[in-house]
Amino acid sequence: MDVVVVGGGIAGLTAGRRLQEAGRSVVVLEARDRVGGRTLNDTIAGVTVEVGGQWVGPTQDHVNALIEELGLERYATHDEGDGLVELAEGKVKRFRGDTPPLSPLALADLFQAQRALDKLVATVDRAEPWATPDAAALDATTFASWLDRRVHTDQARMFHEIAAAAVFAAEPDTMSLLHWLTYIAAGNGLERVLGTQGGAQQDRVVGGTWRISERLAEELGDTVILSAPARRITWGDDGVTVETDAGTYEADRAIVAVPPNLAGRIDYEPALPVRRDQLTQQLPHGQVIKVMVAYDEPWWRAEGLNGQAASAVGPVGITFDNTVPGHDPGILVGFYEGNHALYWGEKTPTARRQAFVDCLVRWFGPKAASPIDYVERDWTAEAWTRGCYGAHFPTGAWTRFGPALRQPVGPIHWAGTETATTWMGYLDGAVESADRAVTEILA
Ligand code: FAD
Repeated sequence: MDVVVVGGGIAGLTAGRRLQEAGRSVVVLEARDRVGGRTLNDTIAGVTVEVGGQWVGPTQDHVNALIEELGLERYATHDEGDGLVELAEGKVKRFRGDTPPLSPLALADLFQAQRALDKLVATVDRAEPWATPDAAALDATTFASWLDRRVHTDQARMFHEIAAAAVFAAEPDTMSLLHWLTYIAAGNGLERVLGTQGGAQQDRVVGGTWRISERLAEELGDTVILSAPARRITWGDDGVTVETDAGTYEADRAIVAVPPNLAGRIDYEPALPVRRDQLTQQLPHGQVIKVMVAYDEPWWRAEGLNGQAASAVGPVGITFDNTVPGHDPGILVGFYEGNHALYWGEKTPTARRQAFVDCLVRWFGPKAASPIDYVERDWTAEAWTRGCYGAHFPTGAWTRFGPALRQPVGPIHWAGTETATTWMGYLDGAVESADRAVTEILA
């Protein structure tokens, strides 16, 4: 066999498909009993919704091209009406447009910090973040320390914390400033990353984003082996041998398309070079529990609300209108992120449902009190993901271990969204990473 791909998420499946198209023999080994990894469909009030990754947007050229190649269609996220912000418990403000309803002083503070961050983002070397000017200094400080120095009002600080939780599902004191800058640069700037229309939350896929993986797996047919976690990879000049619970596979090369935290749980024989091994010891995932409630209809629309709320109080940090066109129920999606996800992950689904509903009542009013259905997915508790939305680099990790992120080791190549240079952490990054790893192999 030419190539063994480890991991049947969007990255692994895309790599398998591209290799097959190029006439190479390939097998895709997936640990779970399903494909799709961090994308997954579920139902709420009889409607199919995504409990994992769901949105795509402009400049995400890799995933948008793949969606079209697979004959899938997109539709726009509902984005009409006013948004809501809660900076102190129960003090909810309505606003329209992109400027949050902060005091004039806090807005000035927010914009000066934003300008400073934009300037730094523009200096990032996306392909080699460790080669960014002043990389060592940027990597020696956490994003939280930078906020301590450069943001002076509580409201502006809260806004940055809400944004960091929404983007990384992690707290600002867990990641280096260089990582924050690199990730935002990979997403073409904070406005794109946070935006709905014109941003990363602009579109959804008809039938749910998991259909991308479903279609890829259908095309790959019986070359996808489920319930086949790779336990050990023996590698050398002759190629690779991958031992799984479902058998042993030999090939000339391997693509390991799993997040670094899980790549590091595979046994390698011989052991990997120190920088690569240490890299996988450094990159924690954030924490997220995605929750949704359904109502008979999207009643907030009639009240002029777009379903988007952001809260510094929590425990749910942000919501969106997740109603699916052509279906009656109104659906709101929310996210427990970072510390809130850690705390509430230890509670029951009933308690999480109630805490989410309590937030919605504070933000949207009493009509939110009685949903007809609820669905949730705690990605921190998933053995084959162990946290989401993806990996982040703590202080010192990019500059010490970054060069090992994509560097092949003998016949082993690395893919997965964490290895992308554009839209790292996103579906788009997963597709980019697959294309790059396949190009390495075909070359
Ligand atoms: P994965 O999907 O993690 O795939 C890796 C695969 O490898 C998994 O199937 C896993 O089971 C398997 N595996 C792991 N270890 C082994 C092993 N040892 N042997 C064999 N198989 C193994 N992105 C967006 O673009 N837009 C969004 O709106 C968005 N929202 C998100 C919301 C949530 C709640 C979550 C969880 C993620 C979200 N993301 C979003 C991120 C997006 O889902 C991921 O970036 C993307 O799915 C990653 O794909 P991947 O193939 O790189 O990794």
